[in-house]
Amino acid sequence: EFDVLIVGGGPAGASAAIYAARKGVATGIVTEKFGGQVLDTLGIENFISVKETEGPKLVAALEQHVKEYDIDVMALQRAKALNKLDDGKVEVVLENGAKLVSKTVILSTGARWREMNVPGETEYRNKGVAYCPHCDGPLYKGKRVAVIGGGNSGVEAAIDLAGIVKEVTLFEFDTKLKADAVLQKKLYSLPNVKVIMNALTTEVNGDGSKVYGLSYKDRATDEVKQVELEGIFVQIGLLPNTDWLKGTLELSKHGEIVVDHKGHTSMEGVFAAGDCTTAPYKQIIIAMGEGANASLAAFDHLIRQ
Ligand code: FAD
Repeated sequence: EFDVLIVGGGPAGASAAIYAARKGVATGIVTEKFGGQVLDTLGIENFISVKETEGPKLVAALEQHVKEYDIDVMALQRAKALNKLDDGKVEVVLENGAKLVSKTVILSTGARWREMNVPGETEYRNKGVAYCPHCDGPLYKGKRVAVIGGGNSGVEAAIDLAGIVKEVTLFEFDTKLKADAVLQKKLYSLPNVKVIMNALTTEVNGDGSKVYGLSYKDRATDEVKQVELEGIFVQIGLLPNTDWLKGTLELSKHGEIVVDHKGHTSMEGVFAAGDCTTAPYKQIIIAMGEGANASLAAFDHLIRQ
């Protein structure tokens, strides 16, 4: 039995675990893989105080830091259900059938970017295909990029990138943008942004080591066209890893766990942190801060029992 059980071992979960263990309470982490999205990241230049690092390097450092404490790390385990027990404790059921009981639970299962699912996308990930303008925008200074998706995040990304890169082409599948009017107005006021509607992206074109273009089908004519560019930012949605919590906890319409400023969820004794929550910005440094926040809130809860 645990005092604090964390589900998800990315930056939010690792941070929550260290904060809990430092209070001397029985702490565990259940995670499918340790490190989360950071494992899939190449260069990281916005983890403040570390000028430059790489995903796997940061994951190794996280793992090392967690190992310094008495934390029970249960890796390669996937949680499938969360239940409130009659005595107020919380049960986490794993896919292998095991049941773990804890006084408090912190959910930090993260999220994943929705992909275009076209040839070349996976091959050129981190070599021209990007998902996070805050992370990778500066790498495309002076270059030509595409943004895929005309919702709020796509249009925000295009506006953001237009200030850094030479030229942005925004591709929207529909015949109109879905972003808020104020964002669209701003977008159309920028001289180095072009918008192509009714476009289905069909392939990422590269030379084996980096992207040189994008193919798309004009849905009005069925004609396949090509644009030359160096970067592609895919902005068609971030999917929180919360399917297993549907019907158990309050989720937003995007499937994010609804949390308050202390990381409380709608179930007493259950907290959440990082990319799986309604917290608006999804970054490593933010996930770590929220992990610490939720962990301190869980400790607050424990001392009141
Ligand atoms: P995650 O990192 O997503 O970790 C969640 C963990 O939970 C995973 O290990 C997962 O396996 C596990 N899990 C999920 N479901 C379950 C379950 N049911 N049971 C058990 N375990 C489960 N941010 C930056 O600040 N700077 C960058 O340069 C940067 N670059 C990025 C580049 C890429 C390619 C990507 C994909 C993201 C990047 N990000 C960057 C974003 C950053 O990685 C995330 O904001 C951060 O990792 C979120 O941390 P988290 O702990 O909330 O979730």
